[in-house]
Amino acid sequence: MNDFLYSGQIEKGGAAFSYAVTTALTNEAVVRHDCDPVGAHLLARALTVGLLAAASGGADTRFNVRWSYRGALQAIVVDAGAEGTVRGLINPPAFAGLADTGELYGDAGEVRVVRSRGGTVTASGTAEACFMDVADDLAAFLCISDQVESAAAVRVAFTDDPAQPVRICRGFLLQAMPDTDLEQFQQMSRQLNEEPVVSLLSRPAEPEQGLNDILQALTPNGSWQVGERTVPRFLCRCSVDKMGTALRCLSYADRVDIVQKQEDVSIRCHFCNERYVLTVAECIRAWNEKDPK
Ligand SMILES: [Zn+2]
Repeated sequence: MNDFLYSGQIEKGGAAFSYAVTTALTNEAVVRHDCDPVGAHLLARALTVGLLAAASGGADTRFNVRWSYRGALQAIVVDAGAEGTVRGLINPPAFAGLADTGELYGDAGEVRVVRSRGGTVTASGTAEACFMDVADDLAAFLCISDQVESAAAVRVAFTDDPAQPVRICRGFLLQAMPDTDLEQFQQMSRQLNEEPVVSLLSRPAEPEQGLNDILQALTPNGSWQVGERTVPRFLCRCSVDKMGTALRCLSYADRVDIVQKQEDVSIRCHFCNERYVLTVAECIRAWNEKDPK
């Protein structure tokens, strides 16, 4: 089954929700960034919850989130569009020899979110990351900074095939609306991390009625509306031309060094790990151009 993303509403005092299966796109990200199992788990969770949060934005909006922690995990960045494109990075991508999650996250962290529309920043905010989990920390950001009660759950299962490491990845985000019954909302939020929802989110394959099963478990007597199905995908819009922008950040001394050595310059896109090789002539051309607006 292909990846998909649905947004909708639980009626009568309910909540807005997004639900996604992100197996293919998280596979692509994990392979591109050469993540180890711990890195793969973190990046898959972050991409999925970022995509779910972006889904509530309007047309042409993007949701950029950076999680920073003081432990071995330094940062994860996810850049997602409401239309379902997402890219992301994790630094570092591998975590050999860690004793526990305390070493992974350290003693503190921060979540920073920047929203934009049509390339212009419309809002930004920062909140402390207290939960030491990317999904819970982003949900907490949405509660604190946006003041919208939110709860998220992401489940990832892996294979032992390095070419297709993610067996299945899915996530669910609940967000309160102005007429939400908060008691009912909190009950549904708890259920996201309890049985039977945990098992439904962990099924090894996605059944046709997968979303209905989860909604039925969250609100047995409720009704809901589901919007159109979109197909999320990993997409980075980097290009040789955009790498020219990075080259223009080099100092004069660095530029002279490149010209004197007459060696090709290799630049990697942080978001997708694509490697670009530019000749000295291409570098000189880039330095003589202006940054695209
Ligand atoms: Zn890229």
